[in-house]
Amino acid sequence: MNPFSLAGKTALVTGANTGIGQAIAIAMGRAGAKVICAGRRSCAETVSQIADASELILDFADPMAARDVFAQHHVDILVNNAGIIKRNDAVDFTEADWDDVIDVNLKAVFFTSQAFARAVLERKGKGSIVTIASLLSFQGGIRVVSYTAAKHGVAGMTKTLANEWAAKGINVNAIAPGYIATNNTEALRDDPDRNQAILDRIPAGRWGEPGDVGEAAVFLASPAAKYIHGAVLSVDGGWLGR
Ligand code: NAP
Repeated sequence: MNPFSLAGKTALVTGANTGIGQAIAIAMGRAGAKVICAGRRSCAETVSQIADASELILDFADPMAARDVFAQHHVDILVNNAGIIKRNDAVDFTEADWDDVIDVNLKAVFFTSQAFARAVLERKGKGSIVTIASLLSFQGGIRVVSYTAAKHGVAGMTKTLANEWAAKGINVNAIAPGYIATNNTEALRDDPDRNQAILDRIPAGRWGEPGDVGEAAVFLASPAAKYIHGAVLSVDGGWLGR
């Protein structure tokens, strides 16, 4: 048996229409998984690139949106990837920009994980959760206070859920991507000074590609990672070590 294969498994990836989520869905499909590509809009472009895939509309504007999904679909691997970011000075930050980010990036991640775990525990099966955290699970960032609060929360929650579910057959881990070229970071790449400052600090000397995160997610969801619980794996070109 290839311990890195996902053959026979079904993965549900949130926010799979673009960016990191799209790359994770494609990488998992390549590793042999059947993939349910979930998003608040169509994931048809992602589905078309995977041998066995389907799409599901899930909008985490309602953080409980996934409550019934795992009773309706057998899922072995949950990837909590969907996320948003709002930028503003902390003194001007609005309640709406706080709530929107916390709802999608933290509250929906917990209640989706809970719904998944209930289904896996009910069938006495095995499962893996991979949540997309951030460098801002460790660092403060600037002008992104709700995002940083949510991503620190995700790192802590990953450890709590691992503590509760590791012995029950569910691996719970997270990935902290560094600076990855997606819609989420377009504003940074469009600012020449900010772009250069970021590049100068990355030991690998380049922005990350979504596929860099995709391959790491395959590993954490695979049998090769069976004794890994509660980890937040940085995939950052060396940023955090600097
Ligand atoms: P992205 O291209 O903006 O993708 C974000 C995804 O989340 C999109 O599919 C988006 O759907 C989806 N989403 C947003 N709100 C949603 C909602 N209410 N319901 C369902 N789906 C929703 O950005 P990305 O960089 O790939 O981000 C993916 C994850 O990586 C996020 O959790 C982000 O925080 C994290 N991350 C990214 C970086 C980076 O450098 N790019 C670094 C660290 C962590 P729409 O297309 O419809 O908006």
